[in-house]
Amino acid sequence: MRALILSDIHANLEALEAVLADAQARGGFDTIWCLGDTVGYGPDPGACIDRIREFDLVAVTGNHDCAAIGLIDASDFNETAKIAATWTAGQLDDGQREFLTALPMVSVQEPFTLVHGSLRDPIVEYLLDRQSASGTFALMETSYCLVGHSHIPFLCRDVEEDPDFIDFTEDEKFVLGDDRWIINPGGVGQPRDRDSRPSYAICDIENKVIGRHRVIYDIAKTQGKMRAASLPGHLIDRLDHGL
Ligand code: ZN
Repeated sequence: MRALILSDIHANLEALEAVLADAQARGGFDTIWCLGDTVGYGPDPGACIDRIREFDLVAVTGNHDCAAIGLIDASDFNETAKIAATWTAGQLDDGQREFLTALPMVSVQEPFTLVHGSLRDPIVEYLLDRQSASGTFALMETSYCLVGHSHIPFLCRDVEEDPDFIDFTEDEKFVLGDDRWIINPGGVGQPRDRDSRPSYAICDIENKVIGRHRVIYDIAKTQGKMRAASLPGHLIDRLDHGL
């Protein structure tokens, strides 16, 4: 089975469509595993939810998904994120709200665990260093854990309880094998690793082989929709820079 692993779509429909088309061209997929923050920041929250639901889908919730339905208070968000969260909340229909409300924090799909932030703190903690990686390795009951939230792609291997971060190089196949791994596929709708191209992964589950890919999309089209929706300029500009 091939799983298309998406995180942080952030209501960017053009980025999502480009990723879906690219994944189809690379041999397709049987299911989508979505690591949260499907909405927030971008101009098409409802359409992005509806689009991923057209496929066989396993999804977990993210902090922006929770904020959009009032499950968490957006007061911890920075000013632009707060404005976007309030705007997003007003865009969703009942079915889309129900979908977000029903999302779990953690989902186990052997041999993977899916979570937005970390297993220590599923929607808050950014897993980006050895200390936070150790915290999640200690709680992992499967061999591999998929995370998002930081929008920064990486592979992290548990080497004798000492997390070792390695580059999740684009277009390279990684055999996960018998090691324990934490994996971030990067962000679809708002990449933050100084590369504006959406980032995603495809995993061959049986063979435990994973690859990360990037694709070009129509950034200006997404930005035009954001301008029309009067979303904050900072959120519009950052898409150009992958920040
Ligand atoms: Zn996010």
